[in-house]
Amino acid sequence: MEHCYTDATITSSSYPSPIPLRSPSVASPCAACKILRRRCVEKCVLAPYFPPNDPLKFTIAHRIFGASNLTKVLQELPEAERADAVSSMVYEANARQRDPVYGSAGVISQLQNQVNELQQQLAMAQAEIVNMQSQQANLMALICIEKWQKKIPHQHHSYDNDYQTNMSFLDENPGSLLEHVST
Ligand SMILES: [Zn+2]
Repeated sequence: MEHCYTDATITSSSYPSPIPLRSPSVASPCAACKILRRRCVEKCVLAPYFPPNDPLKFTIAHRIFGASNLTKVLQELPEAERADAVSSMVYEANARQRDPVYGSAGVISQLQNQVNELQQQLAMAQAEIVNMQSQQANLMALICIEKWQKKIPHQHHSYDNDYQTNMSFLDENPGSLLEHVST
């Protein structure tokens, strides 16, 4: 068995196959292939999302989901959705590492609580605004009523009467105007 295997290996490496069955390997392997110690090919499905300069991204995702699952998920998706799927899985893997019990569900419920609290605060602030607006409207109405009650009747009364008195005085006795003013 061992002998046969060795022979086969030698044969395949000694004589390159005439038709290249696999894509040529790239110069610098992606983080996934580097960590998995495998040949990174041009059409490597993980390469666009796991660049060699960020090995931790793959390590975390691989630890939680496994490389084969990551590959399977990406292969089943259209290319346009793969980047979002990777960032989602990396996010979930990070959350699972921080919180092994609840993972990203813990973060989601925490954020949901925060949203609820903020919505309550917003509702209270909006009620306060409505209250203040009605108070302001009431105040404005009161000011208008007071102005109308005090200023307009007062003007009507005093101005017209005084004017009439003065004018009638002038008409009656224009010569004694100085006398009238000085008294
Ligand atoms: Zn690769």
